[in-house]
Order: sequence, then C-alpha cells, then structure tokens
Amino acid sequence: MFNENIPYKIYLSEDEMPKQWYNVRADMKKKPAPLLNPATGRPVTADELGAVFCGELVKQELDETTPYIDIPGEILDFYKMYRPSPLVRAYCLEKALDTPAKIYYKFEGNNTSGSHKLNSAIAQAYYAKKQGLKGVTTETGAGQWGTALSMACSYFDLDCRVYMVKVSYEQKPFRREVMRTYGASVTPSPSMTTEVGKKILAEFPDTNGSLGCAISEAVEAATSSEGYRYVLGSVLSQVLLHQTVIGLETKIAMDKYGIKPDTIIGCAGGGSNLGGLIAPFMGEKLRGEADYRIIAVEPASCPSLTRGVYAYDFCDTGKVCPLQKMYTLGSGFMPSANHAGGLRYHGMSSILSELYDQGLMEAVSVEQTAVFEAAQKFARVEGILPAPESSHAIKAAVDEALKCRETGEEKTILFGLTGTGYFDMYAYAAYNDGKMSDYIPTDEELQKSIADLPKIG
Ligand SMILES: *Cc1c(COP(=O)(O)O)cnc(C)c1O
Repeated sequence: MFNENIPYKIYLSEDEMPKQWYNVRADMKKKPAPLLNPATGRPVTADELGAVFCGELVKQELDETTPYIDIPGEILDFYKMYRPSPLVRAYCLEKALDTPAKIYYKFEGNNTSGSHKLNSAIAQAYYAKKQGLKGVTTETGAGQWGTALSMACSYFDLDCRVYMVKVSYEQKPFRREVMRTYGASVTPSPSMTTEVGKKILAEFPDTNGSLGCAISEAVEAATSSEGYRYVLGSVLSQVLLHQTVIGLETKIAMDKYGIKPDTIIGCAGGGSNLGGLIAPFMGEKLRGEADYRIIAVEPASCPSLTRGVYAYDFCDTGKVCPLQKMYTLGSGFMPSANHAGGLRYHGMSSILSELYDQGLMEAVSVEQTAVFEAAQKFARVEGILPAPESSHAIKAAVDEALKCRETGEEKTILFGLTGTGYFDMYAYAAYNDGKMSDYIPTDEELQKSIADLPKIG
C-alpha cells in the first residue's frame, strides 16, 4: 500500500529545520487593521502595550514589514526537544476512504502539552526571561495552552500563574495537575483574586467562566504585580508568527519531495495553528507565485468566520484588552458547552480575518457529532487519537477527499493535526454512548451579542 516514493512519515533533520519565523503581514498589500486603545480609540502605542506584554513581543506584534525574524538559538534548542514534527502521508486513511486524493497531515501532538501551543509558549517565556521578569500570567480554557506555558516557564525558571476557566478546572483535573507538576499555580476563573473577577461573580454568581473572562483576570493579575507580564496563546499576530514554524517545516518537507498541496485545511479557534500552517503558502499566494485553496474549519456552535461580523471588538469579556478588528460574535458571546474547548473563542486572529475578508481563504463550520465520527474513523486507521479541536480539520479533509472519490480528482490535501485527545475522554464517552448533541446558535442569539459591539468610527 505504501507504494509511492513518498515515505509514510517525512522527518526533517535538525539542520533542515527553519531558523527564522515568517511574518506574512510583510507580504499583505492591505494589512490587518491596527489594535486600538479602548480608552482613546486611537491605535495602541508600543509603550501602552509594553505595560501588558514583554518588550520584544510588542515589537513583533506591531511589526508588519519585516518578512523573516530570526528564531533565537535557545528557542531553536528547545524546539529540537520535540521538533521537527512529522509530516505524515495518510495512506491508511486514503485507503479507508477509497479516494484518489493524496492526504497529508502535519502532526503537532508529539509533546507533553499535546498540541502546537508549545511553539509559541517557549518563545514567549524566552522573551520574558530575557527581559528579567519574575513571571507571567495567562488564561487557559481546555488547558492545552496553560500546560504548554507551564512547561516553557519551568524550562526558563519563570513563575507561571494560570487562570483556568472554572468549568474546565473542575472537569479536567488531570490537565490542572500536569500544570502544577511543572510548577504553575492554577486558579479557577472567575475568582475573588482580581477586581474584574469579583465584579463578574457579583453579576453572575453561578457562571461557569469563559475564556474572555479568564483573559481579563490574567491581564489584571499581570498589570498589578511587579515583574509580571501577560501572555496569550492564540489570536495575537506574535503567536501566529511563532506558529509559522509548523508551515515552514511542512513547506521544506513537501518541497524536498516535490509535493504541492491543492487544498490546505486547519481548525480555527483563535487562528494560530491555521495561520502558522498556511503562512508560507499564503506568502506565495500573496506574491502571485502559486495558488492554494485554504479552508478554515470552525465549530457550528462558535462560528466566528462563517456567521460573525468583521468589526472592532474587545478581545475579552472584562473589556480591558485593546480592541481588535476581527470576525467576531461579540465579546459577550457564550458558546454552548461543546467539547472542542480550544475553539470556543468569540473572535479570530486579525491577520486571518483580513485574509478571509479579502477572499484569500474560505471557512466552513461543522457539527460536533460529525467531527467525532471523523475522529473515530481517523483513530481507527491512522492510530493517533486526535484532539476534538484537531478533528474539525480531519472532518473537512475527509469531506474533501470524499468529493475527490466522486469526481476522480487526484487532489493533494494537507491538513494540520494540532494535537492528541487523551484528556478529552468524557467527550469521546459521550460520542461512544450516543449521547452527544449538536448545538447551533440561532440568528437571534448571535444578534444579541453582536448588537453589543463597541461603536468605533
Ligand atoms: C488551542 C488549540 C486549537 C485552537 O487554537 P488556534 O489558536 O486556533 O490554533 C486547536 N487544536 C488544539 C489541539 C489546541 O490545543
């Protein structure tokens, strides 16, 4: 069956690993809209951002002209502990689907955090350490980002304070304990440890918490503690920049074997893995050197690209972060309890939002039962037990491959397999027991949170 000249897994050597990240904004003629200061309505300055984020990360956030940025040697060394990640030819899935399509996936789950998030966590911890900080604060939803950050902080001996969405804190005790094992302190959010947490609890005493609310608490904890800064695991342009290591490795591996993908697919929560995977391909597209079809996949329960509006919005519920122009459902949107915790954010990366608005990529939304059906099929033939988030990309890749079966087209499909699902077994149990349900918000529900968008300009 493995009958072609393409290995089952394409690994790069350490020497072949990328030494620079790629900043796709440098090749965008129309750039993403600037972040705005919510108090003044004017673009945020480096000084203002520097109160919240590390200096070097602020520079990366605001840099929209430098195409390649060197990856510091200490980060490259850490990358070598779990990278390069394999690019896998999904021969077994192709056979199971009886499709003429050639399917590849880039697997980012081969590290203890179980996802791609470590690629940015280590970079953010490095810059915090270099600045002489004592520690960092952050939020985590399902727990992958908090886990990645606690690993990165323990490597550089930094204090790590994680605000974990309350419902996840209670339902995912193992994630919490992994973080504590790496030395992080974990607080269920909303909490009484911050002013914004107290305010939210006074208004909604029974709340399960949300990512937007945990962000507000983490930002407050950072700005009110000497020697601390806040770090974020997705959405920001600096995070997409670090995640381009995924796409750059993929491109090097594919070029080595003369493979050109027709369709590139990734799940989209805040947009970091998708933005990272597509970056070098999108760069070629923007420069007119090649064309690719690019598809973002989101949950039907939290459909920011497919049903949101492109407008300035708050990045957090407490409205303390800068305003970002993005596809959004409104910062007050509370997605229904679905199982893809990493895809429950109300907004989207400003880079991906702008690319989508320019028609350079597509978006689809999928329902969770269909996602788990695809996840189960994938696990049974390819061996890897995928994260629910990643399985959104699997579902879309399977759909594209089945279309090729109908048309006989031998398309090459590439998708990002962002992580493993070992901490999501309650979700798998619900699916295996036939108790999983799909929830799609009505237009009226979406209108409610969208109506509360800040009025800008
Ligand atoms: C966090 C996460 C995602 C979604 O985040 P993005 O920033 O959109 O990439 C996807 N998959 C896994 C496994 C995650 O942990």
